[in-house]
Amino acid sequence: MSNTMYAELPQSGPDLLTREKETYPDIFHEGAAAEYSKAITGAHDLVVNFLHRNRKPFSGIPAAELKAAFAAIDFDTPLPDYESLLQEVQELYVKHATAFHLPEYIAHLNCPVVIPAIGAEVLIAAINSSQDTWDQSAGGTLMEQKLISWTCNEIGFGKEADGVFTAGGSQSNLMGLLLARDYYATAYTQHNIKKAGLPAEASRYRIFISEKAHFSNHKNAALLGLGEQSLVEIKTDERFRMNALLLQEAIEREISQGNIPIAIVATAGTTDFGNLDPLAEIGRIAARYKLWYHIDAAYGCGLLLTEKYRSLLNGMELAHSVTIDYHKSFFQPISSSAFIVRDKKYLQLLRMHVDYLNPKDEDYDDLNQINKSVTQSTRRFDALKLWFTLRLMGKQKLGAYTETIIETAEKAAEVIALDSDLELLSYSDIGVILFRYAPEKYKGSDLSALNQYIKKALFNSGEVLVASTRVNGDFYLKFTMLNPLTTLDHIRHILQLIKQHGAAYHPKN
Ligand SMILES: *Cc1c(COP(=O)(O)O)cnc(C)c1O
Repeated sequence: MSNTMYAELPQSGPDLLTREKETYPDIFHEGAAAEYSKAITGAHDLVVNFLHRNRKPFSGIPAAELKAAFAAIDFDTPLPDYESLLQEVQELYVKHATAFHLPEYIAHLNCPVVIPAIGAEVLIAAINSSQDTWDQSAGGTLMEQKLISWTCNEIGFGKEADGVFTAGGSQSNLMGLLLARDYYATAYTQHNIKKAGLPAEASRYRIFISEKAHFSNHKNAALLGLGEQSLVEIKTDERFRMNALLLQEAIEREISQGNIPIAIVATAGTTDFGNLDPLAEIGRIAARYKLWYHIDAAYGCGLLLTEKYRSLLNGMELAHSVTIDYHKSFFQPISSSAFIVRDKKYLQLLRMHVDYLNPKDEDYDDLNQINKSVTQSTRRFDALKLWFTLRLMGKQKLGAYTETIIETAEKAAEVIALDSDLELLSYSDIGVILFRYAPEKYKGSDLSALNQYIKKALFNSGEVLVASTRVNGDFYLKFTMLNPLTTLDHIRHILQLIKQHGAAYHPKN
């Protein structure tokens, strides 16, 4: 850097303070309160417009058309004011954004969000605490810890339990498998993987999951150096839940082949089918073989808050570790997720001492949460959203929303089952319905192509967004119900549209 550049910098002193206030209106500071209000009000107005104007879950704009609108954007030429900025964002983003809050959105596992949580986001962004160390968060750390111990208690864990907020279920699942791997190596073979790397026998480590488990498990096994080959996929029963008998057989088979079972991952609410593996039965098997037991409750965790359906989670308290996605089933904005362990001593396996972040001579070691994270140092104060939600609404209200969703899904499944044009494949414990359009007149033609056509037609019109999946190679339509505002009337209307599009289909011969 040349000396002339230094010469141009303002001198320090009280003068500088005044000048900064005048000349840095875009940095969040005392002198920028008016600018702050302008930005927040502008963003707020855009959101209110979004609520009023976006009447369909999707505008239906073709990707190429939207992409073309980006060609003229030049970052080297900033816009003159918020008005132009908001106008541009309206056109490029908000106008065509997926509206997850609309009752006709029943595609991905992305819930409508509750208002208190959105209010919390305003504070999270502006104050910008970082949850990794006490000296960057103070009360934020205590709030997070209080919410974690509340979650532990809801799961049925005792006082020894602990956990941490994470960016999502995939990350929490990674932590579960990481602990499983390192726990086995440390406790049974006195091998410290963190220091020494994988032992030779790690290629024989085996992790048992259902064939319908979330794909993040495969990625995570690969990341952990065990490879996807370490995963033993257990077949599911007629409702797509892990078959515990086959699990036991598989464990025995792997042992007899000289492999080393280290963990079982059960899914409480599969992404595609919304069913829960038999958690208690699997827990007993894990205990019998001394295996780490991780429960992926990214989706099913919402049941924790219901009285009526809480029993579906019985056995969860047997887990060593649990994945909770508040942004899937607690109506929280992305990101909001947690990794929970039954005993906080397991988290010791993650510890990596870094002198400047967690100096040994400071006595608030428990409050430096950096020790609980694997893939994050700087970490958002996402917990504040759940705090706003629980303190204002209470868990009963959230639980009641989940019950409404489940009841609507049950009735919707009945309607589909009774409709001779539709073929119900499965309905779930929590709100997933798989079915296809299969009327008499299309018997013998390619039903997968027909239903793919329907899904595409719905997406292009943007009126209704549904999901899909393949089961044994066949294409099925899928409803993922996460919105208490979606009523049976909406479902009937959606089914009507499905049939209309289906009837317009012309099979290619
Ligand atoms: C969504 C999901 C995940 C992944 O969670 P993200 O928050 O999307 O990373 C993991 N497991 C299950 C069962 C899920 O449904």
